[in-house]
Amino acid sequence: MPLHGYTRMFEQMLNHPNIKVMLNTDYREIIDMIPFRYMIYTGPIDEFFGYCYGKLPYRSLQFVHETHDTPVYQDTPVINYPNDYAYTRVTEFKYLTGQKHAKTSVVYEYPQAEGDPYYPVPRPENARLYEQYKALAEATPNVSFVGRLATYKYYNMDQVVAQALKTYRTLIERQTLTVDSVTLLEVPIGGKTQLNGATALS
Ligand SMILES: Cc1cc2nc3c(=O)[nH]c(=O)nc-3n(C[C@H](O)[C@H](O)[C@H](O)COP(=O)(O)OP(=O)(O)OC[C@H]3O[C@@H](n4cnc5c(N)ncnc54)[C@H](O)[C@@H]3O)c2cc1C
Repeated sequence: MPLHGYTRMFEQMLNHPNIKVMLNTDYREIIDMIPFRYMIYTGPIDEFFGYCYGKLPYRSLQFVHETHDTPVYQDTPVINYPNDYAYTRVTEFKYLTGQKHAKTSVVYEYPQAEGDPYYPVPRPENARLYEQYKALAEATPNVSFVGRLATYKYYNMDQVVAQALKTYRTLIERQTLTVDSVTLLEVPIGGKTQLNGATALS
């Protein structure tokens, strides 16, 4: 975990003089305009290669928000319902934020086959499909594929930060890159913006 939490970590990254953020920008729109020697790609690996072997499946979620006229809705911040209902998780945010209020807000998560790519589907045929894309990635010079979408693997935040730091160290050791300038793109997935993106390093 970052010493001062994720908010501070992202603030410091975004405040770095070498980092510029471009919102609502697919890296393919600007790849010919921004000179770079090396790219860190964090988008879906199958998309990078134009789905040439087919689409990697993901499980998605629909979030249903409810406000209840009671100070407390459930006994704990997060309850998982793996089997018995159409929803799989209910989160009551007050527990996490410490908010005091006469009402409370919860979100129900309903698994969906279509939608934003959230969770890789760990089936042998999907692993085989990913291995095909991975072989292409390994044969692609000057690009590292990093993160959950680019490696088709579910990571928690701490794991993905560790993977990013490990990749950085490996590249520095190989002296593949020097961090003269870094461009960090931010594009919305399904209307929500998420940090990171295709990072062009020169
Ligand atoms: C529903 C859900 C709940 C989660 N809850 C937790 C939790 O409680 N705790 C926890 O530790 N982790 C949680 N995670 C995991 C956490 O979200 C991930 O570990 C983390 O976001 C992975 O970071 P990433 O950089 O690999 O991918 P992402 O955060 O998905 O970042 C990828 C970035 O690449 C950008 N991108 C993609 N394609 C392009 C393109 N063509 N051009 C430019 N940019 C592009 C995207 O816009 C995005 O900003 C959760 C994940 C999900 C799906």
